[in-house]
Amino acid sequence: MTQPVYDRIALIGLGLIASSMAHAIRRGNLAGEITGYARSEATRETARRINLCDRIFDTAADAVEDADLVVLCVPVGAMGPVMEEIAPKLKPGATVSDVGSVKRHVIEAVQPHIPQGVHFVPAHPLAGTEHSGPEAGFAELYDNRWCLLVPVEGTDPDAVERLRTLWEGMGANVDEMDADHHDLVLAVTSHAPHLIAYTMVGVADDLRRVTDSEVIKYSAAGFRDFTRIAASDPTMWRDVFLTNKDATLEILGRFTEELFALQRAIRTGDGEHLHDYFTRTRAIRRGIIEAGQDTAAPNFGRGTKS
Ligand code: NAP
Repeated sequence: MTQPVYDRIALIGLGLIASSMAHAIRRGNLAGEITGYARSEATRETARRINLCDRIFDTAADAVEDADLVVLCVPVGAMGPVMEEIAPKLKPGATVSDVGSVKRHVIEAVQPHIPQGVHFVPAHPLAGTEHSGPEAGFAELYDNRWCLLVPVEGTDPDAVERLRTLWEGMGANVDEMDADHHDLVLAVTSHAPHLIAYTMVGVADDLRRVTDSEVIKYSAAGFRDFTRIAASDPTMWRDVFLTNKDATLEILGRFTEELFALQRAIRTGDGEHLHDYFTRTRAIRRGIIEAGQDTAAPNFGRGTKS
């Protein structure tokens, strides 16, 4: 049996990401003990009932006491206040990390509260589903997915390496990235697509009032995939857009320009423009499949009824 990477890991916030971490940590025997804290009594009760962690505490400060690694798994906007609350209880030499979808904002909110002698290694696993809460997690969520580490200047390389070992133990491929670059890349690959999905589903919802239930009844694969993305947690995504404002607006500006160009091609009957564009985008899909980040199975590998 392999040696645990950390003696005690504290998970603060017990939603999809933290619960998947708890399962993956146990699967890989990566911690001597896992402690946990969630804000609401209901979530703490659920976590106790499903035996998600070895011990669940009623305060974040108690959960982090004596932990070697503390992972903040709350919405991006809540990271700073939670960090402020736990700071006095952190063990010297401990590492604080997070899983927030935006990095520059989290660094600015968390870093000022990190006590002397405690390491801070921000991280972001590029894996998720549209489900939330402590029962949504599963051990395989991070298998063959990327986890990006975003160390701040002057971070102890040993603390970074140890966190890398943990994520690799949970099945992830690990890379390092600068915070601003991370936020721009994620604006393209995740944040703007989510906003577009939210918009498309909102438009269909307005239309539904005109066409009765046809939008739901004849929902084709394209729209169904938008609805899955648009079912993602409202709090998490509100915080993502409020805290990755510049990069998201930059990408949405480009998106709007391209959309106008395609709109114009449709209006003027420019089939060549449309065909060339769709040929270029089709190649991107092939690239994602070749990189092992999705399945080539028809209907995204879904059964016929799902
Ligand atoms: P989740 O399932 O909705 O769980 C969020 C957890 O944070 C819950 O335990 C919740 O407590 C707690 N929480 C919410 N607001 C809080 C506040 N103001 N103060 C303290 N605790 C609060 O969310 P998740 O999907 O695990 O996301 C957690 C983090 O992972 C977010 O930063 C998100 O950006 C990042 N992330 C998400 C995904 C994804 O696809 N879901 C992927 C990568 C990274 P209660 O249950 O008690 O309300």
